[in-house]
Amino acid sequence: MSNNIVWHNHKVTRAERAAPKNQHPCVLWFTGLSGSGKSTIANALDVALYQRGYHTFLLDGDNVRHGLNKDLGFSDEDRVENIRRIGEMSKLFADAGLIVLSAFISPFTSDRRMVRNLMPAGEFIEVFMDTPIETCEDRDPKGLYEKARAGQIKDFTGIDSPYEVPEHPEVVLDTSSQTVDQCVEQLLEYLLERKLILERQE
Ligand code: ADP
Repeated sequence: MSNNIVWHNHKVTRAERAAPKNQHPCVLWFTGLSGSGKSTIANALDVALYQRGYHTFLLDGDNVRHGLNKDLGFSDEDRVENIRRIGEMSKLFADAGLIVLSAFISPFTSDRRMVRNLMPAGEFIEVFMDTPIETCEDRDPKGLYEKARAGQIKDFTGIDSPYEVPEHPEVVLDTSSQTVDQCVEQLLEYLLERKLILERQE
């Protein structure tokens, strides 16, 4: 790396950027098995926050592999780099004052810790989708479990590749026993309690 790279401090701070939006920047990091409900809940929360006038941005699943990360495959090295870039991107959106919703299986503790460590304390909210694998496999919304069981996909998380359960997630959801609305309500309550969103004075 060049020695001539200098960090520039911005005149408008991230907190100043977020304040008029009645929110504090943060990253909600949804982690869990395929079919556990990451995308569904992240999207529903995104809608709920948007309708209340908060400013959000959703980073979801494979979309980034079409652009920023299209040079990356599924080797161990590339998976780590995939999450690292998504983490840095999430941080940039948070620096813009936004509430960022990132939904990726992210099965490895070390990768999630790497992203957590990018963020100031209290601004990384690990949302563990603790939906049993049996439910995920029954749903199989993308038909991926069926393919993995048939040996057509290798290293599929939960089948022949591990999912490391988060040790200290900020929020735990189980979509086999909670409805979408209940999950959204639980997340909104968390954000309000931590003053990451402020109720508007009407
Ligand atoms: P992931 O992003 O974790 O792979 P998805 O959100 O794509 O998971 O898939 C979850 C599937 O489960 C969707 O088809 C969704 O409609 C269904 N589902 C059923 N009940 C729930 C619930 N309570 N919460 C979230 N998803 C649910």
